[in-house]
Amino acid sequence: MHNLISDYLGEILDDVRDHVDGEIPTYITSLTKADPDWLGIAMCTTSGRVYEAGDAEVLFTIQSVSKPFIYALALQECGLERVLDVAGMEPSGEAFNELSLREEDKRPLNPMINAGAIAVNQLINGEDSSVEDRVDVIFDFLSKLAGRELEMDEESAVDELEKADRNLSIAHMLRSHDVIVDAAHDAVDSYTRQCSALVTVRDLAVMSGTLANGGVQPVTGEKLLDPEVCRQTLSVMSSCGMYDAAGRWMARVGIPAKSGVSGGLIGMLPGQLGIATLSPRLDPAGNSVRGVDVFEDLSTDMGLHLMSTEHRTGSHAVRSVDRSGEDTIITLQGVVTFTAAEEILHKLNSLDFVSERVVLDVSRVIDSHSMGRRMLKEQLQRIREAGYDIAVVDPDAELRGRQLSDGSQIPLAEDL
Ligand code: GLU
Repeated sequence: MHNLISDYLGEILDDVRDHVDGEIPTYITSLTKADPDWLGIAMCTTSGRVYEAGDAEVLFTIQSVSKPFIYALALQECGLERVLDVAGMEPSGEAFNELSLREEDKRPLNPMINAGAIAVNQLINGEDSSVEDRVDVIFDFLSKLAGRELEMDEESAVDELEKADRNLSIAHMLRSHDVIVDAAHDAVDSYTRQCSALVTVRDLAVMSGTLANGGVQPVTGEKLLDPEVCRQTLSVMSSCGMYDAAGRWMARVGIPAKSGVSGGLIGMLPGQLGIATLSPRLDPAGNSVRGVDVFEDLSTDMGLHLMSTEHRTGSHAVRSVDRSGEDTIITLQGVVTFTAAEEILHKLNSLDFVSERVVLDVSRVIDSHSMGRRMLKEQLQRIREAGYDIAVVDPDAELRGRQLSDGSQIPLAEDL
């Protein structure tokens, strides 16, 4: 039986198939071998289910799509402060390969442009690392993200390095300001090999799904990154990921993303999805023409825009209120965030309790934030202060302790 979601992804591809504008870049020979008509998409949920359509098995070099992943690895290895030492987090509004540094401290503006990415690459495995060892660490990490052994397109790496005058100038500039230690040639060699990892959109979707999933690879379950590292990476991507079209992208699509010259494009929906597309023809800003179209369609159709004001998170937090028996039983569900807790409190405040006891059942709550839990406990204390008995049904200890701020404990309903 056909999968409904894969069918839908296939339909989205068909909608953009005849958009044949744009050019394949020629400055890296291997890119010219791409079939301009390749069109593929894959999506990976944070629960580890992968859906794909079109040319999902085609291998292509990862290019700049590697930048957020290696940024995340550097953050994980060295910490935010050290990484900020070599690359800022402001959009540049310039071409990806611009020879520019921040005026005040001569540091690259962000890690999504080449200057920042070359600097960040140099942090991996320590500044004293050999190129070989550094590249090994990078490939090992990218492979874990993908859940399979990734290979390098050696020919592409060699070819790009031979003509890498622009990136070499960037590396010389970085070295002259002590941002990197290695010789410029070694730094660009290492960065270029990073860019030559061979991936499919399926790989990229799973890799992106890992960042969307707080660092846990959703298919293998391996914990690769801290949630704070993922948050930092997604934040920088949201303002700097789409070359100089980042502002337009955020307004039209509204999810953190990164594109590359080989026509790959990834996007992450925090806590929900990783998405990747491939279509090699690029627009003047260097982004895949049909990739951008697909993301725009997905964002509208699936309501993925992060700035969408129609998302009513928390509005279904109260599953039911049962006042038919001796107790008033309020059953909650979903994730108790601040907004969900606010909704719950509003509901509780508008209820007249006819029973002597009010029972809060959190057995259907799947997760909660500390602020949400605090608000629930505070509210229970007030209900008790208003003269009612209180209790909770909490088999999985979702409330993480039943202590109230007056020092007393909320009883478990089954203990009474
Ligand atoms: N290796 C490519 C370069 O540095 C990557 C550029 C890109 O994908 O934007 O020129």
